[in-house]
Amino acid sequence: MKALFDLHTHTLASGHAFSTLKENLEEAKQKGLWGIGTSDHAEKMPGTNASLFINYKVVRNSCMGLRVFCGVETNICDFHGTIDMEEPLLQKMDYVIASLHSPCIQSGTAEQNTAALLGVMKNPYVKIIAHPDDSRYPLDYDVLVSAAKKHRVALELNNSSLVPGSTRVNGKENAKKLLQTCKKFQAPIILGSDAHIWYDVGRFDEAYDLIKEVSFPEELILNLHEDGIHAVLNHRKK
Ligand SMILES: [Zn+2]
Ligand SMILES: [Zn+2]
Repeated sequence: MKALFDLHTHTLASGHAFSTLKENLEEAKQKGLWGIGTSDHAEKMPGTNASLFINYKVVRNSCMGLRVFCGVETNICDFHGTIDMEEPLLQKMDYVIASLHSPCIQSGTAEQNTAALLGVMKNPYVKIIAHPDDSRYPLDYDVLVSAAKKHRVALELNNSSLVPGSTRVNGKENAKKLLQTCKKFQAPIILGSDAHIWYDVGRFDEAYDLIKEVSFPEELILNLHEDGIHAVLNHRKK
């Protein structure tokens, strides 16, 4: 099993990450990826430099022999699924991730957290929900996965959540539940490294182990084929 692209990576612009875009690209090349996406945090994350999003035009879509995609990891701000980026800027992103983050939203009940994710799926720009695998934000997986399938949103298997010492709680147990539910509903997933330092770009070892453990069908993993990227790209991009 070999993922061809990693769309969940952070640079220095996120404020709490350690590497440059160039270092991330070099690592993607080194790991033999076909493509990489850069997805710094949108403005509600403390310390982030959201002004970079207006300047993505300077980033070439092909660099060092890699396909390069310019995206964003937006923050969900309420239980309706409101995110911290407005339409004119969303239109310019190659792809949009949405996530629940503790500095931006306090966890509610499983019903409320799930409602937040269902709400954000109705945003036509959001095509990836990152790390729905954290016991600090309990979720109803049956409701989440069936809605993701209906709205054609990819749920992420986040490698960082599976690494010992992750700040997310019960990441592995929750990711396993997520995979089993996606298998039941035949809903696609996307692998994301969520790298905050260059050497984690394209790191999916822990995700591969879990995929094997639950015998998750490879045809439902978007990263295993170049075409899989079309499921999450922003087709409204001008
Ligand atoms: Zn995140
Ligand atoms: Zn992230």
